[in-house]
Amino acid sequence: MADEDSLVSRKVAPEPELAPYQIEAARSSRSKCRTCRRKIEKGKLRLGILLEGPFGTGYLWHHLACAARQRLEDVEAAYAQKAFGEGLKVPPLSELQTLEEKAARARAERKEPPFVERAPTGRSKCKHCGEPIGKDDLRVALAREVAFGSQVRTSAVNVHVGCVVDEIDTEDCATDIDGFGAALRQNSDDASLAEEALAAIGVLDDWPPSDK
Ligand SMILES: [Zn+2]
Ligand SMILES: [Zn+2]
Repeated sequence: MADEDSLVSRKVAPEPELAPYQIEAARSSRSKCRTCRRKIEKGKLRLGILLEGPFGTGYLWHHLACAARQRLEDVEAAYAQKAFGEGLKVPPLSELQTLEEKAARARAERKEPPFVERAPTGRSKCKHCGEPIGKDDLRVALAREVAFGSQVRTSAVNVHVGCVVDEIDTEDCATDIDGFGAALRQNSDDASLAEEALAAIGVLDDWPPSDK
């Protein structure tokens, strides 16, 4: 897919430094939001975050609203630097901060297993096989019943994508195979990660099988 103006390459020249942030109305519909991966329509406010790479320097774009929800610090820094043109109508920062609060609350409420995320570090271990889950690997949280004395409580345990089927099969697992795909889609923050996980798990994607 064309993604032409998401990374504007520049000649290596001593010329004017690009500001670390740029907020503007998208000049075309060709850029893609790095947060939600969808197209940024022409005229929509977008936040560019300067990336200095080996092949040039340019902006990676995000919908301004997406950036506020996922990386408010960058938005706040951009506002502090007044990284937008004079005539540009931008929402007040407080509005974007409210967006972030709402998104954070929604995320916290949705943390109901099963869900999938990328492991933020390499320090977690798979509850099924005991092996570490690599940083940025898909990590699936399943519900497990744990006995505390006479009480049984449900907590979330993390497993490798490849260990999901076997873990669901265990007696302690409180996540059902029925409706697993739908639940994973609903509970995961990132819809594309849910699809990726379901594709990797495979057998659960269409469970129970529609043709008996
Ligand atoms: Zn977006
Ligand atoms: Zn495992």
